[in-house]
Amino acid sequence: MTAEPDDSIAVVATVRDVRDLVRSRARSAVEVCRDALSRIAAVDPHLHAFNTVVADRALARAESIDRDPDRWRDAPLAGVPVALKDNLCTRDVRTTASSRMLESFVPPYDATVVSRLEAAGAVIVGKTNCDEFAMGSSNENSAFGPVHNPWALDRTPGGTSGGSATAVAARLTPVALGSDTGGSIRQPAAMCGVVGLKPTYGRVSRYGLIAHASSLDQIGPLGRTVHDVALTLGVLAGPDPADATSALEPVPDYTAALTGDVRGARIGVPRALVEQGVDAEVSRAVNLALDALKWRGATLVDVDLPHARYAIPVYYLVSTAEASSNLARYDGVRYGFRAGAGRGTANGTHGTAEAVPYEGAPYGAAPCDLKSMYAKTRARGFGPEVKRRIMLGTYVLSAGYYDAYYLKAQQVRTLILRDYEHAFTGTDPVDVIAMPTSPTAAFRIGERAADPLQMYLADVFTVSASLAGLPAISVPCGFTADRLPVGLQLTGRRFDEATLLRVADAYERDTGWSKQLPPILSR
Ligand code: GLN
Repeated sequence: MTAEPDDSIAVVATVRDVRDLVRSRARSAVEVCRDALSRIAAVDPHLHAFNTVVADRALARAESIDRDPDRWRDAPLAGVPVALKDNLCTRDVRTTASSRMLESFVPPYDATVVSRLEAAGAVIVGKTNCDEFAMGSSNENSAFGPVHNPWALDRTPGGTSGGSATAVAARLTPVALGSDTGGSIRQPAAMCGVVGLKPTYGRVSRYGLIAHASSLDQIGPLGRTVHDVALTLGVLAGPDPADATSALEPVPDYTAALTGDVRGARIGVPRALVEQGVDAEVSRAVNLALDALKWRGATLVDVDLPHARYAIPVYYLVSTAEASSNLARYDGVRYGFRAGAGRGTANGTHGTAEAVPYEGAPYGAAPCDLKSMYAKTRARGFGPEVKRRIMLGTYVLSAGYYDAYYLKAQQVRTLILRDYEHAFTGTDPVDVIAMPTSPTAAFRIGERAADPLQMYLADVFTVSASLAGLPAISVPCGFTADRLPVGLQLTGRRFDEATLLRVADAYERDTGWSKQLPPILSR
């Protein structure tokens, strides 16, 4: 396989570079777009980061930007190619959540984040592969096949925004959006060697995000540099009348926060939590990163998060309960896949993915067929992990078990939140809390697929910030001996993304991790 020459725009350029080239007219948006598309065509067959590439639409959009330079002169993302996780609705562009259930679903509207990116000058090039309905930690739960990690093709990119992380790591686009319910932006960012930010719950509108677990879901950016992530967050953040859970909190200038100065910053380290179960090479890289921050003038402080060790059971009770309720809408009636009916539905999408004729009369002929149509639709439309979550979630919400499981989990969730609050505001307060993003580097495709519990353990360090609604970032902090990337996770106070970004950026300035190219680009 041969990649494009390494001086192409996508390899050398960050979001800021591309934007500046387009704004100054040193490059046209069309040239930049063609470059991204040709790279995707050359490299993505080996990676499978994309479910859908919208080449014509992207080029038409780039042309429109070139035709009207005045309009885009100050646009923060002028001409920047962006990849979107395939659970973000795009008008007239198939949005599948990597599920058979939505294989031919074409939304009639754009997610708010999509409209905001386009208003900022971005050029959407495609929709990225992910775990089905964003459930998983490896991208192996995609109904369309796994994504391959650009650093080692036999390994997973992490999940669930693995296609987005891979697109950025392989320089297919300088930035991508993901969603994070329990770690799905941060964990693939760590495993692919890119920066990924999960904003505070409510910071970014979720209108048009296909729901997984509504008290946890957030949309956020993945990029090669902290600056690019800060810039993109500024475009996405802010209230939205279409999402009642979006916060009114003012949006600061995140790039202005990147001063490079961390003198006096207090960084909490939950040593008891990270002592066990972390791969030695991951620990080593994270400890070296903490030393580097100390050297820059930050103070390391021991913190205790005593309830964080319950975060995995709590997360898998709360998230499955919410998922079982959110996924009830996929019944084959309103939209998406319908087993065997072979008829169009109201909004023009239909169940033709299934060619087998429905047994007995077509849908609508007899009331007794409806229940069996639901059952067949859901049995065939959902993959095994999604079914497991629906069953778990339905069980924990059921009358006899609600108090013992769901209610108890919500109570422990409050204790986890209080641990963080104590660390941020107690007697010895810290500004951010540092730990590994993932206990291991990228694992092999297939290695954990047969053991769901083993897979869930990959989330041990990411789910507590999700349960507490706090912002958290993963920034590359080195490699294992096998040249697999390692991520440092920083968690911050509610709506204090600026401090997270400042600390992560200061660290990044001391390292060259973001400039390293994965082997897929040099073969
Ligand atoms: N791995 C977690 C899960 O499977 C997180 C997923 C996510 O953040 N979307 O639920």
